[in-house]
Amino acid sequence: MRRINFTNTQVASSETARDINRGVLLNLIRRRQPISRADLARASGLQRSTVSLITEQLIREKWVVDGLQGRLPRGRRPTFLRLNDRRAVVVADLRPNVTTIAVADVNARFLSQQAITTLRNPAETVAKLVAAIKGLMKLHPELVFEGVGISLPGRANEATDRIVFAPNLGWQEFDLRSPLEEATGMRVEMGNAANACVLAEVWFGHAENVRDLVVVTVSEGIGTGIFVNHQLVRGWKGIAGEFGHVPLDPQGPQCSCGARGCWEVYGSNQAALRYYHESAAAADGLGFEDLMKLAEAGDALALRALDKMAHEIGRGMRMIVAGLAPEEIVVVGEFTRLWPRLGPVIEAEVARAVLAGQPPRVRPADDPRMARLRGTVALVLQKYFGASASDLEQDRERSQVRGKARAFRG
Ligand SMILES: [Zn+2]
Repeated sequence: MRRINFTNTQVASSETARDINRGVLLNLIRRRQPISRADLARASGLQRSTVSLITEQLIREKWVVDGLQGRLPRGRRPTFLRLNDRRAVVVADLRPNVTTIAVADVNARFLSQQAITTLRNPAETVAKLVAAIKGLMKLHPELVFEGVGISLPGRANEATDRIVFAPNLGWQEFDLRSPLEEATGMRVEMGNAANACVLAEVWFGHAENVRDLVVVTVSEGIGTGIFVNHQLVRGWKGIAGEFGHVPLDPQGPQCSCGARGCWEVYGSNQAALRYYHESAAAADGLGFEDLMKLAEAGDALALRALDKMAHEIGRGMRMIVAGLAPEEIVVVGEFTRLWPRLGPVIEAEVARAVLAGQPPRVRPADDPRMARLRGTVALVLQKYFGASASDLEQDRERSQVRGKARAFRG
């Protein structure tokens, strides 16, 4: 995603302008494919000759393919452009118990998938991960792989790329990227899972035109990805968004981060299991998926545990609503399968946090099962695609405002 730097403004060189235009066209093709060059020129506001020049380059680079698909009533047959779905990435969603690895094409269509057990030993996990990545790539000799993306249940230091904060994983500071790059020969992009889910909403979901959005991922812990003014908020050292570790009660239960009573010890999957164990003589080793199945079968105690979890998720969201006033809160997590029951519990809490006006929309992600992996595809591809569609919208808004200002002065 293009970042705007207000303190170190550069005059755009013709090369910068070309890069921006390239990103704009690539994103328009991604969103509206198949699309003709004429429609690209209309949608982007760029001249036909510029569009032709850039699309030829994209075809040479094999990002885009050109196909004869249409026929006008008379005259020339227009050709339509679409992304080259032979270009692919390998993505992995690293979670404390299980890591899911998948092959996806540039349109985030998933072609193969595999799960491995995440181990307490990071080096052993990396060895298994490398074997799984290589195995999946071998299944697809027809594809050209662009890189590897990893979504983390925590944070990596942006300068050193070492994992520095992942309390639920139980790993000490660890360099995940170097061994993966050495073993696969590809560039590895890593990002926080909640931030990846923001990218999934903005790239592939319905949030293209939303300006202020917060994604809350609920799993073994709680993560948040913050999107303000069409930009992902990274914060100092890139670790903004740890609302999950804000204590709601300093006397509360111990959290994996070392503090007590953090939001996630009340609202995570682990918390729901704890509530269930407090009320039912459940067998040890009951997992969250088991709890969901019990609830889906109508088990009253399982449902009550999930109701309490939802209530706590909503309680923590009050910090987000009061502090950031997002237009939309998107929720990612297995529990959203029971959204008709649990969604209203969360919404009622959120509504209480509103100081003025309407509460934000709270909804499950477009594809909650795949959100983390889809976002990780965007994490890898964003450096090739540059300016996003929302940047373009912003540019349009700005030029409309400038136009109005001129008319006013005029
Ligand atoms: Zn904590």
